[in-house]
Amino acid sequence: MMYDTLIRNALIIDGSNSPGYPGDVAILNGRIERIGDLHDARAAEEIDAQGHVLAPGFIDVHTHDDTVVIRQPQMLPKLSQGVTTVIVGNCGISASPVSLRGDPPDPMNLLGTCAAFVYPKFSDYRAAVEAANTTLNVAALVGHTALRSNHLDDLFRTATPDETAAMREQLRESLEAGALGLSTGLAYASAFSASTDEVMQLTEELTAFGAVYTTHLRSEFEPVLEAMDEAFQIGRHAKSPVIISHLKCAGAGNWGRSPQLLASLEQAAKTHPVGCDCYPYAASSSTLDLKQVTDAHRITITWSTPHPEMGGRDLMDIAAEWNLSLLDAARQLQPAGAVYYGMDEADVRRILAHPLSMVGSDGLPEDPFPHPRLWGAFPRVLGHFSRDVGLFALHTAVHKMTGLSASRFGLKERGEIREGHWADLVLFNPATIRDVADFNDPQRAAEGIEGVWVNGVLSYRDGQANGRREGRFLAREGDLRDGFQ
Ligand SMILES: [Zn+2]
Repeated sequence: MMYDTLIRNALIIDGSNSPGYPGDVAILNGRIERIGDLHDARAAEEIDAQGHVLAPGFIDVHTHDDTVVIRQPQMLPKLSQGVTTVIVGNCGISASPVSLRGDPPDPMNLLGTCAAFVYPKFSDYRAAVEAANTTLNVAALVGHTALRSNHLDDLFRTATPDETAAMREQLRESLEAGALGLSTGLAYASAFSASTDEVMQLTEELTAFGAVYTTHLRSEFEPVLEAMDEAFQIGRHAKSPVIISHLKCAGAGNWGRSPQLLASLEQAAKTHPVGCDCYPYAASSSTLDLKQVTDAHRITITWSTPHPEMGGRDLMDIAAEWNLSLLDAARQLQPAGAVYYGMDEADVRRILAHPLSMVGSDGLPEDPFPHPRLWGAFPRVLGHFSRDVGLFALHTAVHKMTGLSASRFGLKERGEIREGHWADLVLFNPATIRDVADFNDPQRAAEGIEGVWVNGVLSYRDGQANGRREGRFLAREGDLRDGFQ
């Protein structure tokens, strides 16, 4: 038997949350053909793993990579971390289906300028991903704010029955074309005025498809528990799984409440399929939001359209230099992006370690001075949090970024190293894996990633992308409720 690729002498951490075991893996025609002691086998390409960890390729369940996967298909920030699949369209923001009448509203501008929004239908976006020969696999949610921008002339009110009907039709058409579900970003001003009822009516479209509801909660500050209740109410109404995006306790007045949030999540999970994702940092990042301007913690500016020279600087310093209040300085900087150092490390760890949480980067690829999660989230969980801090076992860290994620989003035959599954794989050195990107120098590739295979094709090796682009568009398959056992 001649295989395409043999990876010998690996510590196989298979993504199922089981400890690693030594073995060889053979790849044929894009899939894992055999696992075991394969010392007699031969392959066109043979790699000695030297006892390092072979894991399923990481699934980044929370991204804003919608347009960058097409425009910069190499995807080095993610590929260099061992990511092989990205889920786009989070936080109510998606590239499709969108027909803009001008500049994209905040926060859709996180995906680029109006030139980036050229997919009036979800099927247009899917076709563009397929035509672009992406490096990574791409699966997509439909954003509620994107739908609102198509049908409401004023985003600062709730939708009329006619507008809701038009949004439902676009959502249904997108689900038929393979969308995973609906995302909302109810905290953002462009969606905050949407009533719970507006969202509930939209999610009625999810029911027949077994599609998922993901949500950037209406608040991550003091009313976070009420916002979680709203999310669960919507999910129960739609009989749809609920994934809470980047679960956190935001704002100094909210620190220490993660046990309450997790208790609420556990309570909901008793009767309904729910989960969450989170990124492994105590700072958040998004567009510069006046409501979040405070002197209670540090805020740095990542980009500013009128003042690009302020990228990377503290809002406090800018305000002092301009002799303005923080709020007035922020107004002068808008539209802008920011990093908010507004979380408590103990809350981050508690949420990250919880069995219902998956890892998602929430990286912002358009940002000229991005939050380091864009380049470092996954190696940070493996190196810093698992190995150095001892927050959880390495196989649990891997599970939170592979098997759990694939099952929650219905990514069939991915997320675990099993015979017959697609050969999305990452080889890394558990002793040296480390996120190098930090808040001062955020665009740096991680150390310790030794090889990344996407659909069986080696695409990254020893710190270099090799230009191979074998990613696929992953359409929703089956009923996502089945993945919450
Ligand atoms: Zn978000």
